[in-house]
Amino acid sequence: MRTLLDLVLPSECGGCRRPGTSWCAECARAVAGPPMRIRPRNDPGVPCWALSPYRGPARQAVLAVKERGRGDLVPPLGLALAAGLAELRVPGRPLILVPSPSRKASARRRGGDPVLRCARVAARSLDGCQVVPCLRVWWGVRDSAGLSARARDRNLRGRVSAVPLPAAAANAQVVMVDDVLTTGATARACAQALAGVGSYFDDILVTCAA
Ligand SMILES: [Zn+2]
Repeated sequence: MRTLLDLVLPSECGGCRRPGTSWCAECARAVAGPPMRIRPRNDPGVPCWALSPYRGPARQAVLAVKERGRGDLVPPLGLALAAGLAELRVPGRPLILVPSPSRKASARRRGGDPVLRCARVAARSLDGCQVVPCLRVWWGVRDSAGLSARARDRNLRGRVSAVPLPAAAANAQVVMVDDVLTTGATARACAQALAGVGSYFDDILVTCAA
């Protein structure tokens, strides 16, 4: 029987579609890490890590947030990111999270940039952690879904820009976060843009990777 709560909260798991819960314990375990090292075809020159392969609950949850407006999955995905970040963390250094840039039109269509929202959830649960959205992607960049590795690289080359990190970040561990990493084209363009303003990522952590 459907209850009043079902009308307010999604009544199926965002990872496996099991009824009666928005995010089940089994799917939570699938993104619980520890982060695994990945080596994308377009090497961003920074160690890359993923909480999960691009399949199963992690992939389903990322797609549900992006395509079906399941904003209720942002908190659990953000907390999974936080657990992964805790594993990568260098003790004694503040942590700066840089969300991968979203095309503004895509973000609007999705009810706010999910990567930025997940990063904010993660930062709130970690000591000495802040989110610095210092990357922008220019208008005119096509959504990369469906493009080949080479086409993605070409689509993004020189089109991501960065503003310098605050001076107080000099000692910080800087980690770029994203939901999906496939070819590495976005990660590489972002790393190059940040290097162009004299800052560098220590790591890149994504929810799932192909
Ligand atoms: Zn589930």
